[in-house]
Order: sequence, then C-alpha cells, then structure tokens
Amino acid sequence: DANLSTVDPEVAEAVAAELHRQQSTLEMIASENFAPVAVLEAQGSVLTNKYAEGYPGRRYYGGCEHVDVVEQLAIDRAKELFGAEHANVQPHSGAQANAAAMFALLKPGDTIMGLDLAHGGHLTHGMRINFSGKLYNVVPYHVDPESGQVDMAEVERLAAEHRPKMIVAGWSAYPRQLDFAEFRRIADTVDATLMVDMAHFAGLVAAGLHPSPVPYADVVTTTTHKTLGGPRGGIILCKQELAKKINSAVFPGQQGGPLEHVIAAKAVALKVAASEEFRERQQRVLDGASTLAARLSEPDCAEVGVRVLTGGTAVHLVLVDLVKSELDGQQAEDRLHSVGITVNRNAVPNDPRPPMVTSGLRIGTPALATRGFDAAAFTEVADIIATALGSGFDEGVRTSLRARVAVLAEKYPLYPELP
Ligand code: PLP
Repeated sequence: DANLSTVDPEVAEAVAAELHRQQSTLEMIASENFAPVAVLEAQGSVLTNKYAEGYPGRRYYGGCEHVDVVEQLAIDRAKELFGAEHANVQPHSGAQANAAAMFALLKPGDTIMGLDLAHGGHLTHGMRINFSGKLYNVVPYHVDPESGQVDMAEVERLAAEHRPKMIVAGWSAYPRQLDFAEFRRIADTVDATLMVDMAHFAGLVAAGLHPSPVPYADVVTTTTHKTLGGPRGGIILCKQELAKKINSAVFPGQQGGPLEHVIAAKAVALKVAASEEFRERQQRVLDGASTLAARLSEPDCAEVGVRVLTGGTAVHLVLVDLVKSELDGQQAEDRLHSVGITVNRNAVPNDPRPPMVTSGLRIGTPALATRGFDAAAFTEVADIIATALGSGFDEGVRTSLRARVAVLAEKYPLYPELP
C-alpha cells in the first residue's frame, strides 16, 4: 500500500487535521478561499512530474505535448476571462508575478510608487526589506487620514515630483475600489508604466462586479488563490507589445521549470470563474462583506470603540479599526479564534501599536461564500463577530458563540466528498 497514510502517517495526520480545521471553523482571512475538488485533483496530478521549461510549442524538453494543451488552455482562458491581449500563467506565486513584471519593465535603481504597506499595500509594492524595496527607489503613497481612501492628489503630486518609472496600484488591505482611469492619467503625465496588482479583487473583476484594470494598465498581475478561488499561484496579463519582455522575465529571467500541475489547476479555476455560478457566488461575497460592515457600524460596536474603516466596503473585506477599543488586534484575533472564526490582525493607517500587535482586523467573506453562505448566514456570522468584540464577553458568551459557529459550519458543509 503506497498511500500517504501508509508511507508517511505524520504528514497524513497533519493534512487530515487541517481538513478538519477548515471544515469545523469559519475561515474569514480575506486572502483565502476553498479551491474546488476539481482544482485539487488537477494540482495533485502526475503533471507534477514534468519538466517543461519554455512555453507551449517552444519547450526545452521533450514529451511536452500534453502539458502544452494544459498551459494553452490556461493562457486562453485567462485572456478571455479578463479581456487581455497576453497572459503568462507560469509565476509560482503573486510575489513572483510582481517580481517578473518589475524585472521586465524596470532597471535596478529606478523609482517606483506604491501604496505604503502600513496603509494597505503589499510587501512587493516597495517594502524596505522586500526585493522591491531593495532594488528600486520607492516613493510610497498613502490613504487620506480623514476618508481612509487613497489620496489621489498625493499620488499626482508625488508623481510630478519624483517622476517614477512605474506606478503600482493595488492592495492587500483596503476596502474600496481604486480609480484606474485616474492612475492611468497620472502615470501618463510622467511617462510612467502603470502596473495594477489585482490579486485581491481578481475574482470580483472576473465576475464583472468590480471595474477591470485591464483596459488601463500596461501590466496586470494577480494571484489565483484569493477571490479567484483557484490553486496558489500567479498570473501576469499585459498588452501584446510587452508579451515578449514579460515572458522572458518569468522564464528564463526568474524561474526554471513551470509547475504544470498548478497551471492545470489554474486552467480549471479560470473555467469555473467564467460561469454564472461563480458570478452569483461573488455577489454573495460582496453582499456578505456589506452586511458585516453594517453590523460592525451599529451602536453596540461604536460604544466599545470598534469602527469600520472608510465607513463600509465595496469589496470582499472589511477593515476594523480598534484604535479606540480595549482590545488590540492580537487580542481581537485571538478572541475570534476562540469562538471558531479565523481572521487576521492588521495594522490600520498610522497604527499606534507595534506591527506584531496592531490595532485592526481584516475580515473577508470569499471563503464562506464558497461554502454557500447566503444573506441569512452572513447576518448570523456578522452578529457573532460583533458580539465577540463587544462588551460583556465572558466564558458563557464564548461557549454560546462557539455553538452558533458550529451550527453554521454544519449547515454549510465543506468538502463533504473528501475522505
Ligand atoms: N499582491 C497582493 C496585492 C497580495 O495581497 C499578495 C498576497 O497576499 C501578493 C501579491 C502575493 O501573493 P503570494 O502570497 O502568492 O506571493
């Protein structure tokens, strides 16, 4: 018997325990989702055995006739889904997609602008000890302290002053839509390229429920595992004229053999993302986030210093500001964890607490929408969260909230088909 449980019971046990954790708790980390079983199957396939350096039809290894089919399907579906002229589906992750796009379009020492990490940007948008911060001269832009929204006047002012080679628009923790047309206009005033990192909201874009950056940006990067709901990985979209540069920056510039098993899983996820069922799911993602924002804005939350940044949400996540709350981000995360809800603490702009503690939470709805959560279920989970963060939390409340979580987890089973 060559099954995992026989060959390596320790790993098998941890995998089984993780499946049980995912099934029995409510996953509300905004960057996570549940890949369909068909995606897991593709990713767990024999394609993992194949070397395929190069691109479909132009490989440096023999025997690529079948992985060529798979990679071409992924490319064609990515182009079709997002209306892009060119797609590279080989980046192993979102960070590598961003690195490749920057290597293709920039030289070390060039100036780039990106949303400050502490204001919701990503590490790869210019954080000091990330490759992006080490290789490039980074001029961060920020959110407006009053509105909590990206300060486009500052973007324009900094662009005029520093004349960046690239402006990066995109975020990891931001509850609003960006104005891509305005970013394009500003980039054009200084001849900068515009890169949009839509990793977080790609699923919403695919569903037509969020403006697409593709018509505006020179290059668009994404992950495939967040709202898009596929395997962990990255994709780069661009205009035809940049196709060669992007391809050669990914391979041979940055990576060796592509992960064809993951690319097969990306192809499956992109097919799913073109369906009406996926569109309906993304609508529940958005509605659920709005329900949560509304509940956390009610007086009982305001009284204990819980505040919703920007006053609501237009995407799949809510940012909770705990600066005035007795609970810091760590304590709030731990408290929700103790009732069976997984979220992550997150710095708020100008956070007075240290980065390992923070004064905020980032709470997302994609994974629960994938489990089938409807309006009533999101209303219930929003109330559970509001109650957990409220005053008067004690062992009795904890026990009752944990029971309410268990009811939801049972009503919306996850991966019932898995052993
Ligand atoms: N870009 C954005 C906006 C992200 O939020 C993330 C991940 O959190 C990434 C890129 C990086 O993706 P990965 O973790 O696959 O490298």
